[in-house]
Amino acid sequence: MIVNMKDGASEQQIEHIIERVREAGYQAHVTRGTERTIIAAVGSGGRRHELEALQAAPGVDTVVPIAQPFKLVSRQTRPQGTVVTVGDVRLGGHKVVIIAGPCSVESREQMLATAHAVKASGATMLRGGAYKPRTSPYDFQGLGVEALEILREAREQTGLPVVTEVMGSEDVDLISEHADMLQVGARNMQNFNLLRRLARCNRPILLKRGPSATVKEWLLAAEYLLSGGNSDVVLCERGIKTFETELRNTMDLAAIALAKELSHLPVIADPSHGTGRRSLIAPVSRAAIALGADGIIVEVHPCPERALSDGAQSLDLDGFEAMMRCLSDPMRPTASPERSPGKYAPRSAAAPAAGSYNLHGFSF
Ligand code: PEP
Ligand code: MN
Repeated sequence: MIVNMKDGASEQQIEHIIERVREAGYQAHVTRGTERTIIAAVGSGGRRHELEALQAAPGVDTVVPIAQPFKLVSRQTRPQGTVVTVGDVRLGGHKVVIIAGPCSVESREQMLATAHAVKASGATMLRGGAYKPRTSPYDFQGLGVEALEILREAREQTGLPVVTEVMGSEDVDLISEHADMLQVGARNMQNFNLLRRLARCNRPILLKRGPSATVKEWLLAAEYLLSGGNSDVVLCERGIKTFETELRNTMDLAAIALAKELSHLPVIADPSHGTGRRSLIAPVSRAAIALGADGIIVEVHPCPERALSDGAQSLDLDGFEAMMRCLSDPMRPTASPERSPGKYAPRSAAAPAAGSYNLHGFSF
């Protein structure tokens, strides 16, 4: 149930309701808006009629049921929307956040070159996988701790906060020391033990939608995090499995708008995994931003043909720069960089020039 307090309800009246909610056998989750305070009563086994009776308590406007099974995630509990802060980046605020970087951290050189280049093109956060969930056990599994140290250096050099995936509860503490935000990958969306552990960590979480998960299941996975104590959660649509075979996944764009309608959490789009095709990243990003996504997470590699994972869906450094220029005008997808110079500066001279990287023994 939700107890909507009246505009101008006193602190004493709010405290009284919180106490009564607890007495009735529920947890009280309080959202203090600029004008109104909302108290969500959640949990099982409480005495519902005692909550309904709070309608008569001083300072209460309405007492209404929460319509959805995801209670704390529901927009009913926080109509104004949540802003999640990662370092000095705000997800869910007025600005679209662009997170960029390689699928996997492969070497110091590869990660730092990518980090400087994407920053110069306008990215506001970095990504890079240290622990990789790979379909085959014979594929590159990530550099682990070494990658975490490289990510930390990339953050120190660029000032951009870093997000990286956590695959198991045993890695949470270590990854939290190195990264600013922890990603729950699509395959782990319903790893409830991991979610419960992450609910108790002091880092924001990027929760990807499972490849076969409904929007309701996705939001219930987020509910594990919020109900366990971590309300800094960002949702990420990354494509789902359908009968379509031309694309790696089917990017469910409407789910972005739906998730934003149903929930107060920020929602971002991952057009790299959502399509599996480099050529579709810019148009799908524009579409996602046009329908309300709070950000984009994109895979970028200095030399995609040599990438150890997800090369086919990775933009190269120039491709990312070109995409950034097009993004400044999401409603006009035909705008070319020439016709629409956009707000992003070209890569600066500080970024290493093409031809100067050495990756896996190859110069380019
Ligand atoms: C990734 O971000 O590289 C990744 C493995 O994502 P997903 O869990 O969406 O497949
Ligand atoms: Mn990837």
